[in-house]
Amino acid sequence: MLKFIVGFVLLFLQPVAQAQTFEKTVFVPQPKENESRYFYVPFEVPRNAKSLSISYEYDKKGGANVLDLGVFDARFDAAETNLKGFRGWSGGRRNTIFIAEDSASHGYVAGDIPAGSWRVIFGLYKVALEGAEVKIKIKINEIDRAARVEYETEKAKTFDFPVNREGVFIVPVGSLRWYQGDLHAHTFYSDGNWTIKSLLDYAARNNLDFIGVTEHNTFAHHAELNRLAPQYKNLLVLRGEEVTTYGGHFNVWGLPTGELIDFRVAPQDTARLEKSIAQVRRLNLIASLNHPTALCGGCDWSYGDWTRMDAVEIWNGAWDFQDEAALKKWDELLQPGIRITAIGSSDSHAPPVSEYKNGSPLGTPTTHVKMKKLAQKDLLAAIKSGRVWISADSADSNLEFFASGETRVDIGGSATILNGAIRFNFGAYKFPVGAVITLISNGKVMLKEEIKEINSVFAKELSVEKDAYFRIEVRDAIGKMLALTNPIYVQTKR
Ligand SMILES: [Zn+2]
Ligand SMILES: [Zn+2]
Repeated sequence: MLKFIVGFVLLFLQPVAQAQTFEKTVFVPQPKENESRYFYVPFEVPRNAKSLSISYEYDKKGGANVLDLGVFDARFDAAETNLKGFRGWSGGRRNTIFIAEDSASHGYVAGDIPAGSWRVIFGLYKVALEGAEVKIKIKINEIDRAARVEYETEKAKTFDFPVNREGVFIVPVGSLRWYQGDLHAHTFYSDGNWTIKSLLDYAARNNLDFIGVTEHNTFAHHAELNRLAPQYKNLLVLRGEEVTTYGGHFNVWGLPTGELIDFRVAPQDTARLEKSIAQVRRLNLIASLNHPTALCGGCDWSYGDWTRMDAVEIWNGAWDFQDEAALKKWDELLQPGIRITAIGSSDSHAPPVSEYKNGSPLGTPTTHVKMKKLAQKDLLAAIKSGRVWISADSADSNLEFFASGETRVDIGGSATILNGAIRFNFGAYKFPVGAVITLISNGKVMLKEEIKEINSVFAKELSVEKDAYFRIEVRDAIGKMLALTNPIYVQTKR
């Protein structure tokens, strides 16, 4: 009987998932230069909570205040030293988010709701001189209706888009082959409007062999990627992160599930950046600088030279003057002998459908990578070693470029020459007639030819006096980039 009574009492002591709401207003001062750009607000979560919702509100003052949102759960142990307890990030996209055991707003990870002290983390993209007052509302055991509807709507979204060509377009070069893909795209999990499924469908149906899904500062997309990727037999799917600081962005691909590279780096804080890059190295991955010369606030690179990165995205979306600036800077780095691989990516945020003004196709531009097989390790190694060229889209135009000295040397390779002369061979296939192909070495144009036939091949023997790089560009009649290669390096033996 006593046993029964104790059990009965315990049943009543067990708190029912009771809804409670509390609000607080915090004052966020404008951060000083070199100060942390992250502001943490603690809140308590009771035992046996099943879900929570967080809303925040502040006066945007015409864009003078822009605060990003993220959440740490009770496992958070110290500010800015590790990512323990990180539950996700929504940037400036959402005013209200929810996290529950079985689902969460896109950008956040569903699961246990541990009791204890959680943190709201505000990313201080912009704060007005006089600071910002932020009203935070937290609901425990209640999923905000609007946030739930938003989540369900995003989840159910489908798109109709054209299928250009099914199948894989592979050009063999000896034991290696060229594969093509796009390494930079965003879904509902950060600030994009693709679903994971639509993104993978689009890639698979439009000649792409690999796709990097690079959300801003979150790993919440890993679970769905892991679930869907096995359905795409000929597509290599990479768990990516666009490490988004307020002083520049870089991409990391192939992260282990649930791994996040720390993005809490203040602009120009190169020492702190090094820590995040060290994290990338420990995982045997590579770091690729994104849109280094882009003009959007905080998009251009504030961490000095590019040499600490393995690759740089000199071509982001449709070719424009910002890409031209990035290309120029990259070429200037090559001249003193620095090797950093150029890549290109769409940075697509939405499918190319009429519904979205910012929609753009994946593969514009497309990065071509030469490797033995379509596998993550091979892909990253090939990018690091420069076996890469870029084309404006994923259609079947093809560029061939190799040097023939004692042996054949392809893009990314090094040729050693003895007698001072080396022959370069290049071919442009299915590029528009009237386009111009140039061979560039140490900042100078060595050869310029108009493409007169749909398939054109060229050869040029050049004498090389000192170590040099040679690379190819194809531009249309008005100078817009159609394709470019990474260099072949020539070393002279004296
Ligand atoms: Zn970016
Ligand atoms: Zn991006």
